Amino acid sequence: MILIIKSSSEKKQINNLLNWIERQGLKVHMSVGDNSTILGLVGDTSIIDIDLLRSLDIVESVKRIQEPYKKANRKFHPEDTILEINGHKVGGKNFTYIAGPCSVESEKQIISIAKEVKEAGAHFLRGGAYKPRTSPYSFQGLRESGIELLSKAKKETGMAIVTEIMGANDIDIFEDVDIIQVGARNMQNFELLKALGRTSKPILLKRGLANTIEEWLMSAEYIMSEGNEKIILCERGIRTFEMYTRNTLDLSAIPLVKELTHLPVIVDPSHASGLSRLVAPLSLAATGVGADGLIVEVHNDPTNALCDGAQSITPKQFSSLVEKIDIMLPIVNKIRN
Ligand code: PEP
Ligand code: MN
Repeated sequence: MILIIKSSSEKKQINNLLNWIERQGLKVHMSVGDNSTILGLVGDTSIIDIDLLRSLDIVESVKRIQEPYKKANRKFHPEDTILEINGHKVGGKNFTYIAGPCSVESEKQIISIAKEVKEAGAHFLRGGAYKPRTSPYSFQGLRESGIELLSKAKKETGMAIVTEIMGANDIDIFEDVDIIQVGARNMQNFELLKALGRTSKPILLKRGLANTIEEWLMSAEYIMSEGNEKIILCERGIRTFEMYTRNTLDLSAIPLVKELTHLPVIVDPSHASGLSRLVAPLSLAATGVGADGLIVEVHNDPTNALCDGAQSITPKQFSSLVEKIDIMLPIVNKIRN
């Protein structure tokens, strides 16, 4: 971290600051020029409140050299993280397909979709049991019984299940869940992240609707700092001024995040656009820019879906999408396992 000190500062003020920095356990390299003094802070600067430093009278500017995340940082872990879930590898060269309805609606619905997406080539089954809806009057999900139905679908098909958690108090209910999703709205629910960090379950961490890449990686850091390093990141579109789509898929985030972190990064083309006809082209684009997989909303009757029908594709459409992507995989140096 580099601090530029205002030329008008008094020696006593600078010494006070130096003492404060050293009390934080950091070393300081000082370079005194004719017009300004530059302080280089050496050591673990992740504990420093950068805004506090910026607010000091004698500080002209502060620049962070080191990213504030450590465990998620590729600098300290150059190899890709590869997770092993239910016999499938996620991350590295492996490409993962996760598919299923936005929400679990009935036993018949989830089991029939599970069978169809498995047949089409999906590795894991998604399905919301606890649904974060904008309106309290919309379908809120089958909750605990939704998870029971997912478990039945898992028994029936052998597919691992992915479902969203909304509160730390529910963790016990997620015992049978293979991958716990933290949805966009909870990306910065820090108590939830810390609680999940104390479990050993793989976590699918979606990017918040209006969060920067750094904030997203800091949320991963929250989970990792508690001991759970099994994280899959998911880009699902961010809020922009554009109204034709539900969100704007930040495609550039994928290669960029893969430079910054060793964690797998997948893409959700369904929430990214909100439009079923854009799911296939966005999936192809996401694969092209190096995503480690896709999570796609698939429904057997999108028109009558209780949630997110407009962005859901049918099992048949999913099957033809997988066929296309499988053809693309060798070009992007990926394999399916
Ligand atoms: C979902 O996966 O159904 C969901 C609500 O996603 P997001 O948190 O990305 O909106
Ligand atoms: Mn949805």
